[in-house]
Amino acid sequence: MARRKKIYEGKAKILYEGPEPGTLVQYFKDEGMVAEAGGPDIVEGRGVLNNRLSEFFMTGLNAIGVPTHFIRRINMREQLIRAVEIIPLAVVVRNFAAGAMTERLGIAEGTALPRPIVEFYYKDEALGDPLVTEEHVIAFGWAGQQDLDDMVALALRVNDFLSGVMMGVGIRLVDFRIEVGRIWEGDFQRLIVADEISPDSCRLWDMRTGERFGKDAGAADPSLLSEAHAEVARRLGVLPTNVTHSTKPTLIN
Ligand code: ADP
Ligand code: MG
Repeated sequence: MARRKKIYEGKAKILYEGPEPGTLVQYFKDEGMVAEAGGPDIVEGRGVLNNRLSEFFMTGLNAIGVPTHFIRRINMREQLIRAVEIIPLAVVVRNFAAGAMTERLGIAEGTALPRPIVEFYYKDEALGDPLVTEEHVIAFGWAGQQDLDDMVALALRVNDFLSGVMMGVGIRLVDFRIEVGRIWEGDFQRLIVADEISPDSCRLWDMRTGERFGKDAGAADPSLLSEAHAEVARRLGVLPTNVTHSTKPTLIN
């Protein structure tokens, strides 16, 4: 059997050549960052949950007309996606103050922001993904003004959708990040949501208890991360409710 071609291996995912031109297979590993703990970590079952949750969110976005790269899930750890030209920026939307914003601006953690705030971070690991302004983005040619406007609009639509879905299961969407990519359709190009949308790319706090379920869940104890991810999946109905920490993730469909 011919071996498929590996295109890229990152911290959390591997990209393989897809079955048709313009497609890729995205494989979700169990590795990734435990955000506040400051390093990469392997959390058993994380890749399975992120694959399934990213499918859940992106399918919902596609259904309401917010374009994403997601085509279909292939198996527990893999999904078929459209290949895009990634814009080298992480687009972050914040609804409540947390993380870098509290450190940089001295705003108390959990403060409700007067409106969602969209930020751009230059994707360069060696530099620590620094916060950049639209001026930097345009001057250095990472994206154009129209791209920036489209990215803000896209990110705010994702924010409204995700906030609503999360609120429905008692979870506050504190902030999240997406990556955006360019695709060509004939002579036209447009920007679509790429990469992943999962608890690893969101801060998610229980609306009642404040318990953390997203990327900051493992700050105190990385072993809690997979249980937190599983809780999000259970509440959203993509995992059976009786799965416990000791059981490996089981998909409903
Ligand atoms: P990293 O360690 O660089 O964050 P990941 O482990 O998250 O990498 O792997 C995903 C990589 O694939 C990222 O570099 C991301 O920008 C890229 N990517 C995500 N979606 C697409 C897509 N649809 N087409 C091409 N590249 C993509
Ligand atoms: Mg990544």
